Amino acid sequence: MKRKDLPSGDVLCNHCTARCCRYFALPIDTPAEWKDFDNLRWFMLHGRISVFVDQKTWYLVVHNDCRHLQSDNLCGIYSDRPEICSDYSTKDCEFDNDFVYDKMFETPEQIEEYAEAVLPQKKPRRQKTQSLGLPILNVPLAEPVSHERLGHSHSIPNRGEGHGDPAATSAQELISV
Ligand code: SF4
Ligand code: SF4
Repeated sequence: MKRKDLPSGDVLCNHCTARCCRYFALPIDTPAEWKDFDNLRWFMLHGRISVFVDQKTWYLVVHNDCRHLQSDNLCGIYSDRPEICSDYSTKDCEFDNDFVYDKMFETPEQIEEYAEAVLPQKKPRRQKTQSLGLPILNVPLAEPVSHERLGHSHSIPNRGEGHGDPAATSAQELISV
């Protein structure tokens, strides 16, 4: 069904497979050197991770269903869903998004090939003495990541409103911004 064909009083989410509950995307720094691309490659080696660029901003996408998404595509915690979900609207949601971006990388190999094509220097050879330990983020205890920063990192709209229990909320409420 096309968005424009939605009957009056109906809710778009009733005709959707809950696309907005099946991933989240985080804006990331634009990669500029081999180490940046290699870090992206590492993320993507974990599977179900993609990277896209939209209007010059790079995003890391984690493709994973929300644990509260039910088999009927409705939200299992609708009345208590996170604010990022309740703030989201069907108005500009990805219901009919074609997911075409400026750049899209679906595999770690694609990221590496892109880096080889755009970076002036060759891929550095790995030093044999380099540590093979697991990467550990070094976050200073005196400066914890703030809620404000976390909030900003979720700035791409990716959580739908209105795919909860239709009986619990009127259609008018569901489609309001
Ligand atoms: S609305 Fe939010 S909490 Fe509910 S299923 Fe979707 S992502 Fe999960
Ligand atoms: S808000 Fe989410 S579930 Fe509702 S129509 Fe849009 S993408 Fe689908």
